[in-house]
Amino acid sequence: MEREIKILENIGEANDLIAGENRRLLEEHNVFAFNIMGSPGSGKTSLLEASLVELGKSYRVAVIEGDLATSYDAERIKRLGVKVLQINTGGMCHLEAASINRALAHFNLDEIDLVFVENVGNLVCPAFFDIGAHRNIVVISTPEGDDKPAKYPVIFRNADLLVINKMDLLPYLEVNLERIRRDASMINPRLEVIETSCRTGEGVDSWIKWIKRQLETRRNTGVTRGFL
Ligand code: MG
Ligand code: ZN
Repeated sequence: MEREIKILENIGEANDLIAGENRRLLEEHNVFAFNIMGSPGSGKTSLLEASLVELGKSYRVAVIEGDLATSYDAERIKRLGVKVLQINTGGMCHLEAASINRALAHFNLDEIDLVFVENVGNLVCPAFFDIGAHRNIVVISTPEGDDKPAKYPVIFRNADLLVINKMDLLPYLEVNLERIRRDASMINPRLEVIETSCRTGEGVDSWIKWIKRQLETRRNTGVTRGFL
């Protein structure tokens, strides 16, 4: 048992080292990276679809899609004319820094300003693997209920932004938005929250503004952040 724990710690340390390398590599080329995490079906791809064209007016964008199998999400992004690379994890339920390191080698980083990494749909282990992004985002949707921050605290603790998606469904659900906000801010007082509906477009402008603000902040202060 003791040995098992030691090995796991080493995997974590190795991952953090590569995550740091990824961040340095991105910074050398002036690329800013976002790690988008969240449950399957929470709307991670839809949020990108709703905003990539607009963001593309200001930035040169690339997307890395992480999935267990299939390239469905990558195809959705490709249709928008955005550079996209699919990583199939072959059953692994999260992305690691090493897979992002290999993925970055497929891009000419001098031709990119920002990268979105869509992590594997999962609220558990993506939260334990820093991939070297500058900001971490968690997307949940209203049909998932209001207990997710309390039940999966680590992912909310390591995130900079919480997106509550599918706001258009709220009238049909018994979901207490205040509970989501309260629990999330207790776990992580610096967590920002944006409510969106990719179907109606509600809040998508706030999401785009938030993304742009992160790039502006970086330009002014050089601040970057990994996992805590
Ligand atoms: Mg997706
Ligand atoms: Zn996993």
